[in-house]
Amino acid sequence: MEPRLIEHRPTWLCPDAASRERLLDMDERLRRPRVGTLGLLGVGVAAAIPYLGWGPLGLLGCAILALVAASRLARRVSVPEYGLAISWSFTQILIAVSVGLTGGPESYVLSWLVVPLVTLPARFGSHGVAAGVAFTALLVAAVGFGVPATHPLPESYATGATLLMLVGVAILSSALMRSDLEHRTEAVVDDLTGMLNRRALEQRLEELEAQAAISGQSIAAIAADIDHFKRVNDEHGHARGDAVLVEVANRLRSRLRAFDLAYRVGGEEFLVLLPGAGVDEAHTLADALREAVVSDSFDGLPVTVSFGVAATGGGPFDGEALLAEADAALYVAKARGRDRVVVA
Ligand code: GH3
Ligand code: MG
Ligand code: MG
Repeated sequence: MEPRLIEHRPTWLCPDAASRERLLDMDERLRRPRVGTLGLLGVGVAAAIPYLGWGPLGLLGCAILALVAASRLARRVSVPEYGLAISWSFTQILIAVSVGLTGGPESYVLSWLVVPLVTLPARFGSHGVAAGVAFTALLVAAVGFGVPATHPLPESYATGATLLMLVGVAILSSALMRSDLEHRTEAVVDDLTGMLNRRALEQRLEELEAQAAISGQSIAAIAADIDHFKRVNDEHGHARGDAVLVEVANRLRSRLRAFDLAYRVGGEEFLVLLPGAGVDEAHTLADALREAVVSDSFDGLPVTVSFGVAATGGGPFDGEALLAEADAALYVAKARGRDRVVVA
């Protein structure tokens, strides 16, 4: 998924930028299963046409349209959470209307009001869940006390409605688990090279800062940037550029030990974190990485990479400062003619 920068305005439903990004991402992933579940409800409503007429089916169509429209619009507005919450509430109201039409407190579809709650926690967080449960409780009370009990449908519908609900919950909960897994993986892994991304780097740096303050171990960083990469794109096309990026990533990875951490931090910029390494060890490794890149041409293309090395020397350190030092050394390597390693 494209990472997007959203100008963040805190709201009650989304107090921080991460919660809004997650809401949008999960909303998109869950859109199809949610429409599928509403379609399932449609099967139940269609089966009741001989008794209730076509009205309820029209209502359901409205709910599906509202859901799809709200999800599509969400990426274009700056505060999408309220639109998505309104669309969710609209679905609940329509299910409540169906309950009202099919017998109120005695309706076989009363328990369907629970189904949309399944997807709330993954999208809206704790505030959204609290509001959703309160809203649903109000609807249950409204149809329970406000609508006279009737029996417009034959008893055989009770079993059918429960089976449909069972399938609906199964669809939503398994989609939810899958989406959450995908969301977590995509959040830290770069699609093109399979390396960890900048977000993962920031998380790891915080952990290393805390660990190093206690253990006193040194942490080294190697910043790497492909030389004249723009030329590869300009002369051979973007696809060839991408292939070079993947191959550079593979060659760097092939020289690293299991506990060294390799990140793609920008277009053609990489970073290697070496927990426990001092400056000499990092220097030796950077030389080996440079060697690995130039050892062989890239399908006829000569490709080189410049490296900047920095290390903390042990004890508490500031992650940003360490990266800045490695970057400064990299800058010197570029200035001195590229294809080389410079130590801060
Ligand atoms: P230098 O030796 O000074 O690093 O020169 P350079 O051309 O590598 O540096 P510069 O940072 O100006 O160019 C980086 C280029 O990388 C610009 C951009 O077109 C390209 N780029 C960034 N991300 C990608 C990507 O994902 N795929 C491809 N093919 N190109 C990318
Ligand atoms: Mg660059
Ligand atoms: Mg470059």
